Amino acid sequence: NEQSNKTKMANRKDGKLGIALVGLGNYATNQLAPALQQTEHCTLAGIVTGTPSKIPVWKERYGIVDKNIYNYDNYDSIKDNPDIDIIYVVLPNSMHAEYTIRGFEAGKHVICEKPMAITVEECDGMIAAAKKANRDLSIGYRLHFDPYNLEMVRSGTKKIYGEIKKISGGFGFRANPSQWRLTQKYAGGGPLMDLGIYVIQGMCYTTGMEPLAVTAQEGEKTDFERFREVEQSLTWQFEFPGGITGEGRTSYNDGMNFLKAEAEKGVFELTSAFNYTGQRGSTPDGPMNFPRVNQQAKQMDGIVLAIKNNKPSIVPSEMGRRDVKYLQAVYEAMRTGKRIE
Ligand code: NDP
Repeated sequence: NEQSNKTKMANRKDGKLGIALVGLGNYATNQLAPALQQTEHCTLAGIVTGTPSKIPVWKERYGIVDKNIYNYDNYDSIKDNPDIDIIYVVLPNSMHAEYTIRGFEAGKHVICEKPMAITVEECDGMIAAAKKANRDLSIGYRLHFDPYNLEMVRSGTKKIYGEIKKISGGFGFRANPSQWRLTQKYAGGGPLMDLGIYVIQGMCYTTGMEPLAVTAQEGEKTDFERFREVEQSLTWQFEFPGGITGEGRTSYNDGMNFLKAEAEKGVFELTSAFNYTGQRGSTPDGPMNFPRVNQQAKQMDGIVLAIKNNKPSIVPSEMGRRDVKYLQAVYEAMRTGKRIE
């Protein structure tokens, strides 16, 4: 398998791997496809969509040829298409597992958007399918390629400002999210699944640790119509090793976007932490000042380079599974009112 993989890549004229985007919604259309115009190691080769009316624009804008255009029914025949090396699943959360597994059955590598899936069991099935196909599964965690967030990682894990005592973060906005995001069946939960996951990620990569236990409280509901099925907002408290406390918040109703580490020698933080652009941050040494990057382009190139060089992914499926486990633990703590280990 590995050999055929390498041979195939070597045969590609420009050395770029072909990506097919699955689900042409907001993120695929407005972020990933434009980013694929800036990538060095991969290119937009195909699309998979259930909406035929979207196709002409994609053909015109990106020159996608008819033989590289699929729908959800003929998706599996992508296995016969040598132009496509990687499937990028950008569907509603509840569809990630199925389309990832079908991607592996077609012999492709897969990038899957966050959250990796709704349950840990689904994640296990995805990881098993990747293993069986001997292909890579990476998660669309773009902030692992953002210099401001990477500075949080460096400061925290290298203990530049001493031991962290407390880590806090919040991500929320007043949103009118697409309908599936407010549906338990499709989203698996509310803003925690969509936005809070970034805070969990931030706490883990800044401390370089994983939480041992969690307590959580659902926020007050003011809009019972929209938030019939999922939480409107949520707060949670993580206990990390060494007595480090973590305080997280997420909401579809209140604006917040920060990641803050309180360490022995002062505070290092991002006051704009999780968006595609516009990060702001400071350390006890002064404001952070890094070049602006296209996070999605860096992310896709980073994942593809790891595949090409046979190196472990920077954003591997095990990390995606870990986070789904914590998301589930936060919900369990919220529902039961108990401390969940
Ligand atoms: P959208 O609702 O904008 O798009 C989802 C697309 O999935 C639809 O346009 C549609 O594409 C396809 N689809 C297939 N079946 C369904 C269905 N039953 N209901 C709704 N859509 C369906 O969502 P987003 O693009 O915002 O999000 C998609 C995924 O990407 C999510 O998992 C989300 O968490 C993730 N995401 C990640 C971000 C990041 O920064 N990493 C940012 C935004 C989203 P078609 O018509 O082509 O079939």
